[in-house]
Amino acid sequence: MAVWRRHAEDEAAEAGDAEVLPRFTRAGMLQVPTRRLGEREMLPQTAYQIVMDEVMLDGNARFNLATFVTTWMDEEADRLYAATAEKNMVDKDEYPQTAAIEERCVRMIGELWHAPHAEASVGTSTTGSSEGCMLAGLAMKRRWQHARRAASRPTDRPNLVMGANVQVVWEKFANYWEVEPRYVPLEGDVLHLTADRLLDHVDENTIGVVAVLGSTMDGSYEPVAEICAALDRYEAASGVSVPVHVDAASGGFVAPFLQPELEWDFRLPRVVSIQASGHKYGLVYPGVGWVVWRDAAHLPDDLVFHVNYLGGDMPTFALNFSRPGAQVVLQYFQFLRLGREGYRLVQRTCQDVAGHLARAMAARPEIVLVSDGSDLPVVTFALAPTVSKFDVYDVSRKLREHGWLVPAYTMPPNRQDLAVLRVVVRNGFSHDMAELFLRDLLESLEWLDDLVAPMPHEEQPSSFHH
Ligand SMILES: *Cc1c(COP(=O)(O)O)cnc(C)c1O
Repeated sequence: MAVWRRHAEDEAAEAGDAEVLPRFTRAGMLQVPTRRLGEREMLPQTAYQIVMDEVMLDGNARFNLATFVTTWMDEEADRLYAATAEKNMVDKDEYPQTAAIEERCVRMIGELWHAPHAEASVGTSTTGSSEGCMLAGLAMKRRWQHARRAASRPTDRPNLVMGANVQVVWEKFANYWEVEPRYVPLEGDVLHLTADRLLDHVDENTIGVVAVLGSTMDGSYEPVAEICAALDRYEAASGVSVPVHVDAASGGFVAPFLQPELEWDFRLPRVVSIQASGHKYGLVYPGVGWVVWRDAAHLPDDLVFHVNYLGGDMPTFALNFSRPGAQVVLQYFQFLRLGREGYRLVQRTCQDVAGHLARAMAARPEIVLVSDGSDLPVVTFALAPTVSKFDVYDVSRKLREHGWLVPAYTMPPNRQDLAVLRVVVRNGFSHDMAELFLRDLLESLEWLDDLVAPMPHEEQPSSFHH
């Protein structure tokens, strides 16, 4: 795409090596290739302007109700981010203070999740929950292999049991590390894994069960304690002990503050590892997650590599080598800045806003609530069977005209008949913004309902993955 036009009279100037600064109204424009590496350099101001003009076309992150990921932080966090952008997390020797900060965060998170010995918590920062899931899954697989080999049993057919509602990362894990994924299908109005349908899928080749604290589909919590209890019964009957990993990508930084009595974490002895996204309700910009193991025994030694740290030896477990350290610094900033009370306030406000949205929606005859924000502050809703002129995809598109990004998608197998819209309430989505959103939602519904004929349809996207 030719962003800048070359003027014939400038070609002569180029020969004289004159540097030009093409800004909007100035002559002397250049042709800028965008699909191959250009031959010539340009001034940073020019490149900046070109890139800025382009990324402006992206959706406005503050109106993005589709994502769980943080889109707003304090100004001080922005400054800290810029000041620490050059830090490499793997250079523990060169940036020992950033390494120390990471260790403190792991310890704080271990304590938050009731690790039996938080001061000796085994864990690490990651690029996000996905890397945390890979590491936790690998640890379960390796531990299962060791146990099987020790018992002279075959290790060629590992499987992982989880609900059909799991996030796409678990499908990736199973594919990349060659583990058979066993999805427990959804049933009726229960849109996540429950204890009663679990045991049919578990056997001696099960490396673990994944329980999700905060399903991406509707924000609901899976009953982790009941899932553990079912596996206790299974162990009593079969002698096979199946560990549980909790995918607390979102819930890991919500439940400790909003539902402190709920036992979903290391208080349950069967839970061997937990991961969460620092960049979701951990309230940090994209690029950080955390994974913590109950104790060192659940992270097999032969998965751990060693890097140099102050001339000594630092054990690491990661898929990446180099990785930004700034997000870890930002996580520490948030822990200091907010403390338990601050996190509680932020998440409570999100839940209040979600509750308000849910109540306003429930009052509408066109809307059927699927989740009301009482687990994660997520409101999921479908259209009433009486609505025939339009569907959830039309509502999503209409909302986009107002700037709001609200995904529409169908539920996983067995409930693919259920098409929903989902609003994720995050820090920064205020009561005032919620009012504006409700105004635009109701206006959209009325506009669609006033059409003289139903909306014409193109083919819909098959699924939505985040
Ligand atoms: C978002 C999410 C993931 C993936 O997390 P990233 O931090 O985006 O890598 C995994 N599981 C669940 C339940 C999620 O919500």
